[in-house]
Amino acid sequence: MLNKKLLVIVLLLLASTAHAQTRIDWPRYQDSAVDLMQKYLRINTSNPPGNEIEAAKWFKAIFDQNGIQNEIFEYAPGRANIIARIKGNGSKRPIILLSHTDVVTADASAWEADPFSGEIRQGTIFGRGAIDMKSVGLVQLMTMLIVKQQNIPLSRDLIFLATADEEVHDEGSIWMIANKAELFKDAEYLITEGGDNLLEGSAVRYVGVDVAEKAPFWLQLTATGQPGHGSRPIADSATNRLVRAMNRIINWDTPIKLLPAVEKFFKDVAPLQSESMRPKFANIRESLNDAAFVRELSGQREYNFLVRNTISLTMLSGSKQTNVIPTVATCNLDVRLLPGEKPEEFLATLKTVIADPTIKVENVNTFKPPNSSPLDTELFTIISQVTKVNHPEAIVTTKMLSGYTEAQLYRQLGVVAYGWAPFYTTIEENQGVHGNNERISVKNIREGTREFFEVVRQISQ
Ligand SMILES: [Zn+2]
Repeated sequence: MLNKKLLVIVLLLLASTAHAQTRIDWPRYQDSAVDLMQKYLRINTSNPPGNEIEAAKWFKAIFDQNGIQNEIFEYAPGRANIIARIKGNGSKRPIILLSHTDVVTADASAWEADPFSGEIRQGTIFGRGAIDMKSVGLVQLMTMLIVKQQNIPLSRDLIFLATADEEVHDEGSIWMIANKAELFKDAEYLITEGGDNLLEGSAVRYVGVDVAEKAPFWLQLTATGQPGHGSRPIADSATNRLVRAMNRIINWDTPIKLLPAVEKFFKDVAPLQSESMRPKFANIRESLNDAAFVRELSGQREYNFLVRNTISLTMLSGSKQTNVIPTVATCNLDVRLLPGEKPEEFLATLKTVIADPTIKVENVNTFKPPNSSPLDTELFTIISQVTKVNHPEAIVTTKMLSGYTEAQLYRQLGVVAYGWAPFYTTIEENQGVHGNNERISVKNIREGTREFFEVVRQISQ
């Protein structure tokens, strides 16, 4: 009798858990996502100075309320990271949901709405960080809450990690990796910012998952020479030699290199090209042997950086007076290296291009080795599938960033790190990133909450 009663209770319990898992009250969670997005945007984490402790405390209160284990690390006064974890059954390695809580500064006078108001105007939420990247942190938070509240079974731990200072020195992530790596370094996957999705009208053209990034390798060239009066030219003055060297550099076509992720990108977006370009993109490896095609591609800024190391001449300095030939002339180059490149090898080649041993060439930034993650993973497949369900017209592809994200730091731990977010913004909306009137549609937050959860649920089944 007792056993029978127990059995009934167990069955009832099982039924109710199954029920909880399958029935998610989406409108309620989506309302809550919009409300929390507004609140998060109201926390002023402009960096400098950052003051990310306020964001960390805000997350902590929510995690505490929901019984989710979490810890704040205040590594410097006012500068803090937060990590939270929901345990899985341990059959798979963890996944990290990574975001940064700091934002770049905003000039309120140039905005339509206060950058720290989270105000909604015509279906759009305004706020510094609306795209970069409080919205991503928000859908990651919502995923944690839904998993916990709905008792979703997990094969792997979910690790929520929100860091400080990404916009300036990456101190938050660097500190975590140096001091607390044992909390997350066994992870298999990581999702953070960096994806590049293209929305045209109401159609999602492509979803670009960031699997690789280039790395800045900044150089300064210094030429020195005899000073003199401008009325008596010196043929090999510092300025003249520097200009000759710069001329050789800007006329140098760095070699073409095609990485697997980039090859996939060209093939995937081939159908979006004009009729004449379509077969060339589809057979990009072959096309790159054709000098005329390379010339054409090199002239297109959005494609050129994908296939080579690039050099932009940015800073110049010489004399402060027109009639003075200076002793020293300098210029700075913003060099961006492809994943897998060795900076010392690039430097050696560049020196042969400069062909003037009297010119000093120095690296003037902290070089972080560029790296990439594999493409043929379960996570990539799931992102593709979930995207296709919601946007059947979209091409899901790989996108190498010309810029830099924290993914590079975590890839060095052996974690497969992707930049991806289920937000579909127009070119105009993207101009708000680091600019004025940064904003995201309520629709993106509502639907993104569900899409992000779905990817994490499937990879953690
Ligand atoms: Zn960012």
